[in-house]
Amino acid sequence: MEPKIWLSSPHMSGTEMTYIKKAFDSNWVAPLGPNVNAFEEDLQNYLNDDRHVAALSSGTSALHLSLILLDVGYGDEVICQSKTFSASANPIIYQGATPIFVDSEKDTWNICPLQLEISIKDRISKGKRPKAIIAVHLYGMPYKVNEVHEVAKRYEIPIIEDSAESLGSHYKNQKCGTFGDFSILSFNGNKIITTSGGGALVTRTQKDKDKAVFLSTQARDKAPHYEHSEIGYNYRMSNIVAGIGRGQMTILDSHVKKRRSNHELYLNTFKNVDQISFLREPDGHFSNRWLSCILLDSLETREGLRLALEKENIESRPLWKPMHLQPVFEKAPSYTNGVAEDLFDRGLCLPSGSNLSNNELDRVISAINMYFAVC
Ligand SMILES: *Cc1c(COP(=O)(O)O)cnc(C)c1O
Repeated sequence: MEPKIWLSSPHMSGTEMTYIKKAFDSNWVAPLGPNVNAFEEDLQNYLNDDRHVAALSSGTSALHLSLILLDVGYGDEVICQSKTFSASANPIIYQGATPIFVDSEKDTWNICPLQLEISIKDRISKGKRPKAIIAVHLYGMPYKVNEVHEVAKRYEIPIIEDSAESLGSHYKNQKCGTFGDFSILSFNGNKIITTSGGGALVTRTQKDKDKAVFLSTQARDKAPHYEHSEIGYNYRMSNIVAGIGRGQMTILDSHVKKRRSNHELYLNTFKNVDQISFLREPDGHFSNRWLSCILLDSLETREGLRLALEKENIESRPLWKPMHLQPVFEKAPSYTNGVAEDLFDRGLCLPSGSNLSNNELDRVISAINMYFAVC
């Protein structure tokens, strides 16, 4: 059997060990230290000097803290893009709040501004103004920022921008991760850069960053002993992991280039295959193409192709199953138009890593060609 080709696997720059060694040599093996501060600075410089970054243990913890900073609590409602990874929605439940799921539009596969407004009006008419909106740049494709933020502004609801999959993407020349009232990043093992596991919260004020760091380090009041007047969390990034992040920041741009070139190759190879279509970049949208996705003509073709790839030891995966169809969120209200469900039925993510060799890409392409030649 040929070796496995993964959907998206970690890709080191080679400089990570230098930073990790520094941490060991100085005995900074703790959830604070020079690598954490420097990694935060690298991210701030990359995103926008006006933003503040708190490095955390995961993207999920960043989402959780952003809800806490927005004062989301028991009985509140929070709107969330339905087509996403469950981590976008789970922290709403951690806070005892109710997720309200909103469907996607076809141009970016992200939250639909029309459905969003319908949902807000309906929630308000039922007596509850949503406390926040979680919008996601799925697979690196920026959501319709202008339209979505205009609706949010009209109803004065803050936006949490889930940028876990979109570091390196931009919209109208502004980087993803800088649009939300709060924004979150993820450095999990399969993301565009990785620290093995990690995340960050991006804030607009130093005060919010300080509060996030305070909460992420067990909410210790100033005192010689351990004094607490608030509930805290153990969510801070460690100095070892931040060392990996510093190394990864040196190759972020080249990873984006490579992932975009994977997508370009699939597009050029298959654009004339009737059963396959692609998500194009609308005007002003620049995607990091974290994952290269294709749409097939039917659920049967999608599943047939997935199994054919599996036979060749090539990993592929259906697009995210919408949250409003997940058993765990069965009881949550949802505002749907069928788009997310159709994408789930017909969409497939292909191997997309920045470390894919030409030989591996050839294997993926041959396997797909073979499937369509025989079916
Ligand atoms: C990965 C991911 C997260 C969670 O990030 P972790 O670092 O794995 O906790 C949140 N939202 C989306 C859309 C993701 O893809």
